[in-house]
Amino acid sequence: MSEEKKSLNFIEQIIEEDLKTDYKASDLKFRFPPEPNGFLHIGHASSICLNFGLGLKYNAPVNLRFDDTNPLKEETVYVESIKSDVQWLGFEWAQECYASDYFQQLYDWAVELIKAGDAYVDSQSSEEMASQKGTPTQPGTASPYRKRSVEENLALFEAMKNGETGEKAHVLRAKIDMASPNMIMRDPVMYRCLHKAHHRTGNDWMIYPMYDWAHGESDFIESVSHSFCTLEFLPHRELYNWFVKRVSKTGDLVPKQREFARRNLSHTVVSKRKLAQLVEQSIVNSWDDPRMPTISGLRRRGYTPESIRTFAESIGIGKRENMIDVAHLEFCVRDDLNKKATRVMGVMDPLKVVITNYPEGKEEWLSAENNPEDESAGEHEVPFSREMYIEQEDFREEANRKFFRLKLGKEVRLKNAYIIKAEDVVKDENGTILEVHCTYDSESKSGSGTEASQRKVKGTLHWVSIPHAIEAEVRLYDRLFTVEDPTADKEKDFLDFVNPESLEVGKAYVEPYLKSAKAEDKFQFQRIGYFCVDRDSTLDHLVFNRTVTLRDNWKNK
Ligand code: ATP
Ligand code: MG
Repeated sequence: MSEEKKSLNFIEQIIEEDLKTDYKASDLKFRFPPEPNGFLHIGHASSICLNFGLGLKYNAPVNLRFDDTNPLKEETVYVESIKSDVQWLGFEWAQECYASDYFQQLYDWAVELIKAGDAYVDSQSSEEMASQKGTPTQPGTASPYRKRSVEENLALFEAMKNGETGEKAHVLRAKIDMASPNMIMRDPVMYRCLHKAHHRTGNDWMIYPMYDWAHGESDFIESVSHSFCTLEFLPHRELYNWFVKRVSKTGDLVPKQREFARRNLSHTVVSKRKLAQLVEQSIVNSWDDPRMPTISGLRRRGYTPESIRTFAESIGIGKRENMIDVAHLEFCVRDDLNKKATRVMGVMDPLKVVITNYPEGKEEWLSAENNPEDESAGEHEVPFSREMYIEQEDFREEANRKFFRLKLGKEVRLKNAYIIKAEDVVKDENGTILEVHCTYDSESKSGSGTEASQRKVKGTLHWVSIPHAIEAEVRLYDRLFTVEDPTADKEKDFLDFVNPESLEVGKAYVEPYLKSAKAEDKFQFQRIGYFCVDRDSTLDHLVFNRTVTLRDNWKNK
């Protein structure tokens, strides 16, 4: 096998084979077909990257198709969120399509099927029909309505369409084979009556097509060459082909359904239905709550489109379902933000430091590199003064030789500033440290080129000048579920595994450079983690979401 061949995933191999046999390059066309019944999640990102990625690779159009055949669950807000998520991920669709735009065509074809004796109206209850399905090893039983005349079927189907029958009175079924070893081929339902307004077609239709009847036909109408879906549709492929065969003519280019494995992510759920439960039961605040594995939640959390695309590419496309550790997703965003996020300083658990030999009332603006990974990112200025905050955990009165932070009698460097030495502590009557008194080496300013500025001290601490500090709200997120797979135990409800500590709201004192930071701006709070400005943030009340800590520390818990 050549290098090129080896690096193709199995979906690309299918396409390459098809290009050698029945397809020209210009025949290739793909689609991403979400049902607008919720917000897209990280699993959908895999499917988006697969389909749009193939479009880019083969220079082929990719449609965004809304599979909107169930008015009970679908809404325009979901359509809008899906469009914005796909765009945000960086993809462009050729056409925006809706299965509901094909309702008339699908109906006309269904009438043709009835006329050809390939479909009939069944007037049994769904329980009766279920009881006739048989088992994988035993054939099903034919419905007593299977022999209905074409005229009667046509009249009833029209009455169903106009809402003149009860909702539960009839369904339209394909007449295939009640003895087929593939249960899905045992006269599947094509239409059901639903007297419900649709978000796009209003009250035009009182019958709605089932997935199997709508999907392949929509692919055919749009001249999609390859229709990629997840593995649970593998047994539906035979029906997909059966339907497409009935609406196409010999010589037509017909779409092919091919299947790949769903991607699951640890410590969360990737199912719109389950995510909807989290929202409805107020376990999270919204679909774009930063704890959600939705694309909009990840975006609000501070993920970049590149990090999600890299994630999807790196896990690849597989034939077997598996669970991806969320730590891998976090690795991808850390890696991307390391290249992009502006370095700033913020203190979350403050301890006051007074530099006793620094003149009262004096301030200096020191320059700080925005990103050591990216020279073009430039610099900004950080104010220095006599009174600072450092983190509580960065100071000890006494500590062993391995403690490279501040301790009495020893020196550390304040990042981008001076070397300070801890001289004394001021305590309250309970022995709690109120202030640490330090002296600074006025010759040691970072970047000043003096001999003292080159002096090596073991520790470097982040800090903020107290008179300049801005108080901000920080939202610290943790995994939404305490276990890897909250759906693994079928005896239990996945909601039993919600992590009660998935959100901790805290405070941080941040440098004044952050004053005018805008929603979605991304920063590295040095030595702490990556943070992103939340959309709740205002000029008077800054709010930061912690995207991810600097290192993976879940395993230590
Ligand atoms: P959900 O159960 O979350 O609603 P779905 O498969 O019903 O998922 P659709 O809106 O029908 O959601 O999905 C659109 C496309 O995304 C389909 O082709 C589907 O197979 C794919 N997809 C959905 N979830 C995943 C996943 N976890 N991994 C990979 N692809 C997925
Ligand atoms: Mg679905």
